[in-house]
Amino acid sequence: MSQYVYYFGDGHAEGNAKMKDVLGGKGAGLAEMTNIGVPVPPGFTISTAVCTYFYEHGKQYPPELKDAVAANLANVEASVGRKFGDRGKPLLVSVRSGARASMPGMMDTILNLGLNDETVQGLGASSGDERFALDSYRRFIQMYSDVVLEIDREHFEHELVAVRERVGAQSDAKIPAESLRELVATYKKIVRDKLGRDFPQDVQEQLWGAVGAVFNSWNNQRAITYRALNGIPDDWGTAVNVQSMVFGNMGDDCATGVAFTRNPSTGERKFFGEFLPNAQGEDVVAGIRTPLPITKLEETMPEAYGQLVDVYKKLEAHYRDMQDIEFTIQSRKLYLLQTRNGKRTGFAAVKIACDMVDEGLITNTEAVERVEANQIIQLLAPVFDAEEKARALKEGRLLGRGLPAGPGAAAGKVVFQADHAVRAARTGSGPVILVRIETSPEDIAGMHSAAGVLTTRGGLTSHAAVVARGMGRSCVVGAGTLQVDYHRAELQSSGHEPLEEHDWLSIDGTTGEVISGQIKTRPSEVAQVLLYGTMKAEESETYRNFERLLRWADEIRTLGVRTNADTPEDARVARLFGAQGIGLCRTEHMFFAADRINKVREMILARTTVARRKALDELLPHQREDFDGIFRELAGLPATIRLLDPPLHEFLPHTEAAVATIAREMGIRSDELKRRVEQLIEVNPMLGHRGCRLGITYPEIYEMQVRAMFEAACAVKKDGIDVAPEVMIPLVGTIGELQLTAANARRVANEVIQEAGVQVDYLVGTMIEIPRAALIADKLSDTAQFFSFGTNDLTQMTFGYSRDDAGTFLPDYVEKKILPKDPFESIDQEGVGQLVRLGTERGRSTNANLKVGVCGEHGGDPESIRFFRSCGLDYVSCSPYRVPVARLAAAQAELEQKAYEG
Ligand code: PEP
Ligand code: MG
Repeated sequence: MSQYVYYFGDGHAEGNAKMKDVLGGKGAGLAEMTNIGVPVPPGFTISTAVCTYFYEHGKQYPPELKDAVAANLANVEASVGRKFGDRGKPLLVSVRSGARASMPGMMDTILNLGLNDETVQGLGASSGDERFALDSYRRFIQMYSDVVLEIDREHFEHELVAVRERVGAQSDAKIPAESLRELVATYKKIVRDKLGRDFPQDVQEQLWGAVGAVFNSWNNQRAITYRALNGIPDDWGTAVNVQSMVFGNMGDDCATGVAFTRNPSTGERKFFGEFLPNAQGEDVVAGIRTPLPITKLEETMPEAYGQLVDVYKKLEAHYRDMQDIEFTIQSRKLYLLQTRNGKRTGFAAVKIACDMVDEGLITNTEAVERVEANQIIQLLAPVFDAEEKARALKEGRLLGRGLPAGPGAAAGKVVFQADHAVRAARTGSGPVILVRIETSPEDIAGMHSAAGVLTTRGGLTSHAAVVARGMGRSCVVGAGTLQVDYHRAELQSSGHEPLEEHDWLSIDGTTGEVISGQIKTRPSEVAQVLLYGTMKAEESETYRNFERLLRWADEIRTLGVRTNADTPEDARVARLFGAQGIGLCRTEHMFFAADRINKVREMILARTTVARRKALDELLPHQREDFDGIFRELAGLPATIRLLDPPLHEFLPHTEAAVATIAREMGIRSDELKRRVEQLIEVNPMLGHRGCRLGITYPEIYEMQVRAMFEAACAVKKDGIDVAPEVMIPLVGTIGELQLTAANARRVANEVIQEAGVQVDYLVGTMIEIPRAALIADKLSDTAQFFSFGTNDLTQMTFGYSRDDAGTFLPDYVEKKILPKDPFESIDQEGVGQLVRLGTERGRSTNANLKVGVCGEHGGDPESIRFFRSCGLDYVSCSPYRVPVARLAAAQAELEQKAYEG
């Protein structure tokens, strides 16, 4: 029979840190802390298996659960010397959710459970504080009614505010016992009015109601949204933690707080946290009162602070990672309620990983595993342009300051509602800053859509801060001198005109500044050191850590990382970011340059081959110049250059007005141009006359490109710089297409090389973008020396989804779980991915030396990279700014592959 309930308390737990699947993150943390001697109030965890059972059996529990809970509850009672439901010394418990992956604020929590009209008296008598007991009871009714009975929180809030005003209390803590007693009666009346029955007085009914609510909350909308955004499987389920209460609100020698063992924004090695004196658990996390910095705790409660410092050091040494902890101090004694690996910005992730290597806590390899590959892009994120910012400050546009909660600077138009942010993102109407008093889990989708988030209330551990940091959104919280008026849709600050919806606002998540208007952003430190030389490596610790971490990654990975670059400048940036060559140079982008687009058009309009050759001859020097720059920049690294791919009509004008203007510029008749444009229009251009099909119809186009490429290569080689050109034929689907175009390319290349009289080694290969090409890969690799999977087109053609139009329905598909993810963002492993795997295997079966890479968008996506590594590809190619992400992801993929192979 399986064990459904796990006890922890008195220095011994049935579970441990390794049992996250069963106990959830919180339960595993409580068990582990108990085992290593950290003070944790006793309790028990109902396992995730019960959640699974619950959903598989029409929301019923396993029959043996009741007895197991009763037995564990008895153990808790024995441990704390109180009894659940006892009038004299009642045991109170908290009931909290805890999934395998942390889902901050996603699920519901109930505190003070076990209070009723009788036990409240016992609590008052046993604590010697009647006011405290009544306050706990009214909080319990409020929370329980909201979470379990589903009565709108507003009704209770409204009464609370009314009482506070009536007695002239500054805060809830100042409401006298007598008024709290009345409030409890009012609350109970609300429940009776709304439900037609009384608030449950039976503590067992309370307990099971709460457990059921936690399991039900696994499928509430905000939990579903969070899972979808973070790729957490729906079938994992949550555990439920039932734990004896400790109180941070029993007087001035009590407190509650949250802390990080290091700074989660910057990574600085300094204990970092916030607390509220005389307050209860959720007050800090909810961000309702702005908490005090942890340094104040040292002044006011030195003894408890000392305990806390010992505990945090013990936890960090034990977990060998930055911890995010929740604690309560009851009558000067410290209790830990939670520990978990802390969420952190990319900046903090890199610094903490490097520092921990230096401290001897972790190895280089562990450091590489610790940083989420996508997060490293934050180190490349922009900051405000210093001059513009100085000007803004001088002009008095600083509206206020909040706490710096998320990396980087952002400017955007103000929106006050999460759904407005979502709409702005959907309609592409430019960046927005989501401005809220505080955020709640309902706002997640809006936060995701916004460039930045600003709140006027709450601390660095408030919902807004935690979530924005995880998403890498620029975020400022607790800007308390500003007021948000939702009613008028205004952001007000004294001495300034209020900002309305759609006014520009700039926020700096690194300094906490909130500035009206739009401030330009400038490059990050890493970019300044690497790309612009405006900062020295010695001046930037961030840069040095970035460099170190990626060096360690490079030592681990076997998968190469190249870049998709069309210009010498892109190639330069990518090389500085560590690219090992170009995996895709899309030559058509060079055709769009102002000085040659009309030559391209002449070539397209030419009626005869002779006329077309003439236009191509004039294009050749331009194309040669582009390639020359690229080869010099690469200094011997390989450059895969793709011959012309898009359908020709893309180069021609489409509106009447544009046709007229261009005809005038080119000195031809406008009706003639119009006729040619009409001839070239295709019903389905992505499946039309493009790719190698152009090279078959107009071999002279490809010949010109190959000639330009090799003339440049030979010239650069003559200057003593190595070159490694790779000619790539796009959109091949048959052997004949490849044989013909490859033979022509080799002929021209050899001619040029011979004319120049230098030695240039080169390769000719093909893209695999059409499913048929993957299927006949063993035949293609007779001719091709390399394959590059164009997974954009391969996804389009395997699914039959138009790349350009799928945006209209793919979000629906993801939402309805028809697809787990957008297949254009992350490779569809079971379908498109199989063509990659099979194409690679078949290709290598006839050509063992075949080089295989991928150059679609997926080449920069960590999850896809993991898959490509498992297929045995030689390299991935991605956009220049994603090269560091790919290097790190490739190293992580290598470690996973090694672990998998054992
Ligand atoms: C591809 O199809 O994956 C590819 C890289 O080519 P393009 O995006 O230019 O069609
Ligand atoms: Mg393509």
